[in-house]
Amino acid sequence: MPGQTFARLAVDFEGEQDMPLNINGQTKLVGLIGYPIEHSLSPAMHNSAFAALNLNWCYVPLPVPPGRLKEAVVGLRALSFVGANVTVPHKEAVMSYLDHVAPEAQAIGAVNTIVVREGQGIGYNTDWLGFLTALGESGFDSQGKQAVVLGAGGAARAVVYALAQAGAQVTVLNRTPARAQALIQDFSLLFSSLPLSLQTLEKQTAEAHLLVNATPVGIWPEVDKSLWPENLAFPGHLCVFDLVYNPHETKLLQQARRAGAKVIGGLGMLVHQGAAAFELWTGEKAPVETMYEAARKALRR
Ligand code: NAP
Repeated sequence: MPGQTFARLAVDFEGEQDMPLNINGQTKLVGLIGYPIEHSLSPAMHNSAFAALNLNWCYVPLPVPPGRLKEAVVGLRALSFVGANVTVPHKEAVMSYLDHVAPEAQAIGAVNTIVVREGQGIGYNTDWLGFLTALGESGFDSQGKQAVVLGAGGAARAVVYALAQAGAQVTVLNRTPARAQALIQDFSLLFSSLPLSLQTLEKQTAEAHLLVNATPVGIWPEVDKSLWPENLAFPGHLCVFDLVYNPHETKLLQQARRAGAKVIGGLGMLVHQGAAAFELWTGEKAPVETMYEAARKALRR
């Protein structure tokens, strides 16, 4: 376009393809608020999606150290960002700095997506939807099923909310029992929580259909760690969903697969929570396959 300056930015996915992004005066900005975020797959995933739909949008990393969150959220509006994702450690604290928080994010107690509309910051949670969509994609129907969730942090809260929406019964096993009890009280007294131990794992999974790891145990570089004890036979009847996506198959999933269990890695949840955020920002249908491909490539680098 005459009179306009274009900065050409090459996003190189393994040298296979140069994806040009034309940044100009009309480019709409979204970003990722978290700390640290160097290893995030979200910039690759969202910029590929914008390019696939020919949208003049750009997704940038916004590393915000603890203690600077309020300034960052105020700054988003001042800089006319149209939205952002929020990740560890800010998902809970960010709620205090927004103008509105959607009911499901209130219920979960965490925001992972901000939409800036008419200068107002609105908080959403798309993690629960990402989890449920990825679970459904694998063919698992949660209605009436029994699930055991390992962990009681922000991700576990989104998983428990999702399973409650889908009609499953949930038991939370957590290292710190008080945190699990607080989670259960917030959702429903029908759910139960227990301390995480070899005995509770064995007993609870014997009756369950689904086991979800919502802790970081097994994440790179500690890939030889698993919450499933070596000396306990793995129940092969389970479907096992690990929220960790790096590595692609965690030690827990390897143990499960060897026992004949169905396994689901965390990449699908990442892609689908991203797709839901993309749709909130742009109003367009997210190109999910493009986002999967970009996330897989970014993970291999
Ligand atoms: P968080 O709020 O810090 O909670 C971590 C949970 O893991 C807590 O319940 C903690 O127990 C438990 N835990 C940590 N280390 C443990 C250990 N060594 N043994 C037993 N339990 C342990 O973290 P989060 O935000 O919920 O994230 C959890 C994981 O989910 C991370 O790996 C994150 O990357 C992943 N995640 C993935 C996606 C996706 O799209 N795939 C989305 C969100 C999160 P205590 O209460 O006892 O401390």
